[in-house]
Amino acid sequence: MFYIEESAPGFEPTIPIQFTESVSNNNWEDWRWQLRHSIKDIETVERLLGMEFSPAKRAKLEETVARFPISITPYYFSLIDRDNFENDPVFMQSVPDPAELIISRHDRSDPLSEDRDSPVIGVTHRYPDRVLFHVSNLCSMYCRHCTRKRKVGDIDSIPGRNSLQAGIEYIKNTPVIRDVLLSGGDPFMLSDELLDWLLGELRAIDHVEVIRIGTRTPVVLPQRITDNLAKIIAKHHPVWINTHFNHPREVTGRSIEALNKLANAGVPLGNQSVLLAGINDCPRIYKNLVHKLVMNRVRPYYLYQCDLSEGLSHFRTPVGKGIEIVESLIGHTSGFAVPTYVIDAPGGGGKIPVMPNYLISWSTNKVILRNYEGVISTYKEPDSYQPFFCDRNCSDCHLTLSLDNDCHETRVIGISQLLADFHKTTTLIPEDNLRIQRREDG
Ligand SMILES: *Cc1c(COP(=O)(O)O)cnc(C)c1O
Repeated sequence: MFYIEESAPGFEPTIPIQFTESVSNNNWEDWRWQLRHSIKDIETVERLLGMEFSPAKRAKLEETVARFPISITPYYFSLIDRDNFENDPVFMQSVPDPAELIISRHDRSDPLSEDRDSPVIGVTHRYPDRVLFHVSNLCSMYCRHCTRKRKVGDIDSIPGRNSLQAGIEYIKNTPVIRDVLLSGGDPFMLSDELLDWLLGELRAIDHVEVIRIGTRTPVVLPQRITDNLAKIIAKHHPVWINTHFNHPREVTGRSIEALNKLANAGVPLGNQSVLLAGINDCPRIYKNLVHKLVMNRVRPYYLYQCDLSEGLSHFRTPVGKGIEIVESLIGHTSGFAVPTYVIDAPGGGGKIPVMPNYLISWSTNKVILRNYEGVISTYKEPDSYQPFFCDRNCSDCHLTLSLDNDCHETRVIGISQLLADFHKTTTLIPEDNLRIQRREDG
């Protein structure tokens, strides 16, 4: 039995998928059917692609799958171009590669130290005002480039209300948290009922202003974005959603339908993509991707340098490739189509933006800049600007800030602290600085 999946606009070949049991349009559209029929072994990959790996390659692939399991929704699999699968961006993101068994010297199982920055199970509290809340271990498709590969395929499956309770309590008891980012796994692996309950619990917390959901379902399981799901999300606004498109080929008619449903439900949509060697490390492909995204009301948010997770070395590019891509976008296309290129600092330092340099030089009253065309310009700074000493006593300031509400008082840290008038700190010194240690010892 064959099923012909409509393919992306601009991507012509239609790819037949052969399943042992019959597929009707009805069950193809049922996200739970898609999950139940996910491809979980190499043999099925071979059968569906109508090919066989060499015995040596097959053995290596089996070894890879034993370490890092495989799961691909029939929908996502149907996007693979069977005539050129080895270079296919969908194939490369979903079908294992023996290169995953190569663990480089700098690879870590938890490069971002998410587990170390976890005050209660499921919560990573890294930034002052927001937390990452891992609400599910499951994903509908296991990305080969997953940064949380260490957790992929853990079997404790869908959490119940009880296991989410600790995270909710932590957020409730931590008033500085104004932004909760649901992640996983994929939060949309939860049932509608559980999600509705969870969003309701979070929305009931006064200090939680914004809820965010990170999900790849619009890309790999667009059937999950049902009318009912959109309705549930709309009940708990403001809810922002970030999805994860890496290649223009993933923007299909079906995924566009899912994106529309979310945007029409009033959800601001963003996209976080990962820079992947052999998949999207090309300014032309990347520009095509961001154009397709903004046409569908998705704002490119982050472009990630590939993390130092185990088994990802074959996906990594030099940082220069990301800079080159950003250089090809800024000025050349709509400002809102340009994501921030970030490196998530190993060890838990958080996301660090990296950019081409536009500031060439400056004097006391002039800034020299270059633009995307290479034109060098002079910006003359004001002669008359009166800097005023800020002692952080806002009630004495002529700028108007309503202090009774809506005004978050946050501690000033890091470089902002060095810049602040009212703060005595003038240097930030690494803990193990020998010169300072000698002073203290003496
Ligand atoms: C990415 C991330 C966030 C959110 O960061 P934004 O820059 O606000 O999108 C929050 N917590 C953790 C641990 C993160 O990795």
